Amino acid sequence: MATSYDAVVIGAGIIGAATALSLSRAGRRVLVVDKLPAAGYGSTSGSCAIVRPFYSTVDGSALAYESHFYWMDWANFLGAVDERGIARYVNCGNLVVKCARNKYLKPVLEVMREIGCPYRELDPEEVKKRLRIVSLQSFDPPRRPEDPEFGHANGEMLPGAVFFPTGGYVTDPQLAAHNLQVAAEAAGARFRFNATVTEIPRRGGRVDGVVLEGGEQVAAPVVVNVAGPHSFKINRMADVEGGMRIKTKALRHEVAHVPPPAGFDYEHDGIHFSDQDTATYCRPEVGNHILIGSEDPECDRKEWVDPDNFNRDLTEQGRIQAMRVAQRFPGLPIPSRVRGVVELYDVSDDWIPIYDKSDLPGFYMAVGTSGNQFKNAPVVGEMMAALVEACEAGRDHDADPLPFHLKHIDRTVSLGFYSRRREVDTRSSFSVLG
Ligand SMILES: Cc1cc2nc3c(=O)[nH]c(=O)nc-3n(C[C@H](O)[C@H](O)[C@H](O)COP(=O)(O)OP(=O)(O)OC[C@H]3O[C@@H](n4cnc5c(N)ncnc54)[C@H](O)[C@@H]3O)c2cc1C
Repeated sequence: MATSYDAVVIGAGIIGAATALSLSRAGRRVLVVDKLPAAGYGSTSGSCAIVRPFYSTVDGSALAYESHFYWMDWANFLGAVDERGIARYVNCGNLVVKCARNKYLKPVLEVMREIGCPYRELDPEEVKKRLRIVSLQSFDPPRRPEDPEFGHANGEMLPGAVFFPTGGYVTDPQLAAHNLQVAAEAAGARFRFNATVTEIPRRGGRVDGVVLEGGEQVAAPVVVNVAGPHSFKINRMADVEGGMRIKTKALRHEVAHVPPPAGFDYEHDGIHFSDQDTATYCRPEVGNHILIGSEDPECDRKEWVDPDNFNRDLTEQGRIQAMRVAQRFPGLPIPSRVRGVVELYDVSDDWIPIYDKSDLPGFYMAVGTSGNQFKNAPVVGEMMAALVEACEAGRDHDADPLPFHLKHIDRTVSLGFYSRRREVDTRSSFSVLG
């Protein structure tokens, strides 16, 4: 393998692999290094891989709405055949309950109208028709089981939900990352696994590739930090955190898998269901299971961890999430041993990612994906390649942020939205909802 490239991408997760693909298509000789044995084995492997267009901000929603069209056309986007098969996008749509916590979705629907994203408001009867296991009693506020009011409805009824047709989920996020690796390799990229970056050297005032465990240096004028929950460690190696107003850290999250209520086939008749009233979300999972995540209610303690040393076992938290969903889907069986997945989010200070350059010339970052950027990976790869090419050609992106055209929805966004130097964006939900 050569020891000098045009760009090194640190991390072969869904976003690293997508970035490598787009940089290769832009004509760069790219090396991707990952300390794990295969693509998508980091936090991508534990992703719920839900695709949905609704975020708190116009820019965040536009990017997510755009991403739906990439997943719909995944094989063509890749343009290369993966012998392991192709990741499947189940375009079942998203069903989101209207509740006090999301202001009955009025702000979200305003954003949807602004970006031209379709939706349909459903009254309680229509909600039941779409998902007959739903109860629309309100349980607000979300609680923990030690609270005597846990599981007690508050007497209010939810007024309905909104259906978004341009959403769903990808059944195998790790395979999706592998698909991108195969496409990137077809475009000329190289992948090196079991290779840990330990140093980010400099030469002549700019980045000079990476040093791997064992001391080998790979030279490159461009390095992109796509290290997921390890992003802050890489930024510290590069000594660029001082130039960032927004920073990142690792948050532990549990996802539970439980069977649906008796007689209901959630795998085929279920949907991605988002419920801020109980602070949970779910989607169908193979084997007729319901996959259950948390929407980060205030009552739950946040577990900030060292990404190299955290508890990978499911705890009581997974069961609590299932118990909250049992309020919405009465009759949901909760096994004595709840199974599921434990993984890390790479959370930014405002739960909006950083897709940006750094103060070190040649060093870029796609980090702080905050539990909600799997869906955007193919577009983010193209954004990062456009950013690298513009900055390497001399653009001062900090002073004059690069515009990026979202071709499917015909809307131009400013990459300044994702700047490391922005003020905390107070429009954010400060949760996985973005
Ligand atoms: C439980 C969970 C549920 C989620 N659900 C959704 C969802 O429903 N929808 C959605 O859109 N998003 C979701 N996300 C978020 C989404 O999965 C992430 O945003 C995305 O997978 C991040 O991809 P990545 O490539 O940036 O990082 P990762 O997949 O974490 O990849 C980073 C890679 O960097 C490597 N690395 C780190 N340090 C080094 C080093 N020193 N040297 C070499 N390699 C290194 C790691 O080994 C790793 O493979 C979820 C995330 C989690 C954890």
